[in-house]
Amino acid sequence: MRLKIVQAGEAVLRQEARALSPEEIRSAEIRQLIELMRETMRDAPGVGLAAPQVGLPLQLAVIEDPEELQRAIAPERLAERGRHPVPFHVIVNPVITLEGEAVEFFEGCLSVGGFTALVPRAARVRVECLDQNGAPIAIDADGWYARILQHEIDHLHGTLYVDRMHTRSFMSVDHFARRWNDLPILEAKQRLGIAMSA
Ligand code: ZN
Repeated sequence: MRLKIVQAGEAVLRQEARALSPEEIRSAEIRQLIELMRETMRDAPGVGLAAPQVGLPLQLAVIEDPEELQRAIAPERLAERGRHPVPFHVIVNPVITLEGEAVEFFEGCLSVGGFTALVPRAARVRVECLDQNGAPIAIDADGWYARILQHEIDHLHGTLYVDRMHTRSFMSVDHFARRWNDLPILEAKQRLGIAMSA
């Protein structure tokens, strides 16, 4: 069974999600929700899914960037993004600290279906949160994993990538795949008329 992923325009995507207590995290309802979110993310497919995306204003997200999803991507694309496999895990009530320079890549969102844009994100992050058993954990991440964490945690605060993107880079996934995916980011920015200092 998979859950319905809501699209931009649903009010829940613009709300501040509420924190969960460790007891709630261990409840049958939340365990069931995590299972369904995992199935829904894999089916999409996506590398992250936040509870507001399935209509629930809760500070919970699931993340997984499996090797299977990366096989179709050229090794040099994976290398420049710092993209490595990330096993399935859950983050609850995350507090994020951004570290390092901003790096820019195209990213998309299952709640902004069919589109992609160039989004600056911190190169590294530290996330303090609870895991799926309600235990406190700290995550230090860089590369694509750091981007996934920033994107998912934004969802828990009512923020979408469109709030952070270079607006001139907003385009359909179809166009991106055909004309832009293989360009170096600097050249893409030049062609799109995005200031180089930004
Ligand atoms: Zn998203």
